[in-house]
Amino acid sequence: MRSDVDLVVVGGGIAGLVVALEAATAGAGVVVLESDDRVGGMLRRGRLAGIDIDLGAESFAKRTDAVPRLIADFDLPLEIVTPRSGPAHLVSPRAGGRWSRLPLPRRTVIGIPADPLAADVVAIIGERAAQRAAAEVGGTPLDPTASLADVVEERLGAGLLDGLVDPLCRSIYSQPAAAVPLPRLHPKMWTAFERTGSLLAAAAEVAPDAPGGTAVGGIAGGMWRLAEAVAAQARSRGADIRTSRTVRALSAGAGGVAVELDDATLRSRGVVVATGPRAAAQLLGMTPAAIDDAASAPIQPAVRLLTAAVTSVGLSAEPVGSGVIVAPGARTAAKAMTHIDAKWAWARAALAADTHVVRLSARADDTAGLDSAAAVAREITQLTGVRIDRGDIGEIITTRWRDAVVPAESDDWTRAVMDAAVRGIHVTGAVAAGTGLASVIPHARALAQQLFSVPAVRKEPR
Ligand SMILES: Cc1cc2nc3c(=O)[nH]c(=O)nc-3n(C[C@H](O)[C@H](O)[C@H](O)COP(=O)(O)OP(=O)(O)OC[C@H]3O[C@@H](n4cnc5c(N)ncnc54)[C@H](O)[C@@H]3O)c2cc1C
Repeated sequence: MRSDVDLVVVGGGIAGLVVALEAATAGAGVVVLESDDRVGGMLRRGRLAGIDIDLGAESFAKRTDAVPRLIADFDLPLEIVTPRSGPAHLVSPRAGGRWSRLPLPRRTVIGIPADPLAADVVAIIGERAAQRAAAEVGGTPLDPTASLADVVEERLGAGLLDGLVDPLCRSIYSQPAAAVPLPRLHPKMWTAFERTGSLLAAAAEVAPDAPGGTAVGGIAGGMWRLAEAVAAQARSRGADIRTSRTVRALSAGAGGVAVELDDATLRSRGVVVATGPRAAAQLLGMTPAAIDDAASAPIQPAVRLLTAAVTSVGLSAEPVGSGVIVAPGARTAAKAMTHIDAKWAWARAALAADTHVVRLSARADDTAGLDSAAAVAREITQLTGVRIDRGDIGEIITTRWRDAVVPAESDDWTRAVMDAAVRGIHVTGAVAAGTGLASVIPHARALAQQLFSVPAVRKEPR
């Protein structure tokens, strides 16, 4: 097979764009094929209340230095910012139809506290559960395949699991703690756990010793800018990035891979698949049954967001800090809410006084709730404790992410990825690295560097 190009990247989300940037930097001829009419994937720009906002990821976890390092290494014209408001709150039902809204504890990692007896932890899980967690049960062998829920319940007790760890795991990773092992969620935390033999000691080591919220960072103007900047830099280094181009199939032959589009076939020496899980499984030739199995495993088939402009003097007091996480089992239509302009100074500065941008993550199984301005107003009232009327709600943008939840790794999947690699088809993105930019970006960079032995473009992060 004669190749048209060194590398085809399927998918122009942040993973695919980072691979393209690294490959182009190494001098490789690279083509990115993106099915959407714009690049960025889950880093997507929207416009509401006169400002540009994120409709997908709006922050990055600081558990790795992936984002600052990428920006520094490639001189991307972006400014990293820190959330400005107090911590997000946990909303839980209380007896008599009342709700509690309590600040999330300062020093936790996925809800595992550095100090279970800290007042902000006890306020949420109660004295008895806190005492149980403080008396950590150790000594059992560490099993990297055990679910986060099993490990936490055995060592720290069910009270901490149900009261903090599971709600945070669902909120941050869109998966219940029972569906995923700790090493996949948070490798750094796992390494500290392995070394110390204690979850509490590991959390004390890894948890940021700072006011809540600073475990994440953002980009002034929105995270969507990261994808745009990486794409622009990759293009300037020769990458050919094409939108509205869906890859239908890949077939490996001697000396290369045929990449089939609706109206053309490209021949490439190698291919990187950087799509969501369903598309990746299909391109790797997994059977429909295996794809379904893989995709339906972790509870949520899709993520649905409603981003609303709200006019309210009450919200200007930022009653729930940067937002809320709703405890599992609470009967609300949303599982989380972000008060965007309470969280990000750049949004606050751009909005008119008493105009707010509020983002609700709807429960995936909910079809009836949150389908009108009145329902959105009711929901924000319930979550924040501030009365919002239907007339306070301005424009609402609904965004559905259908291929966003990364399934737990299965043997079929691991085998398919290994077989494909032998044929010159490699997989990156959240499906291979785990959810979140802190994991996705280093994986994409490492893969590209391995494929093209990129000369180091190292500078210290700014
Ligand atoms: C609502 C939401 C909020 C999030 N918040 C955060 C956060 O705050 N912090 C954080 O770190 N992470 C967050 N994440 C997760 C983070 O956005 C993702 O882990 C990351 O962006 C995944 O990047 P990716 O390149 O692997 O995949 P994607 O961004 O999904 O990119 C895949 C691309 O492949 C394209 N594609 C699919 N099939 C084909 C095909 N056949 N041919 C061509 N192209 C194809 C898609 O159109 C898409 O553009 C959030 C995700 C969502 C949905």
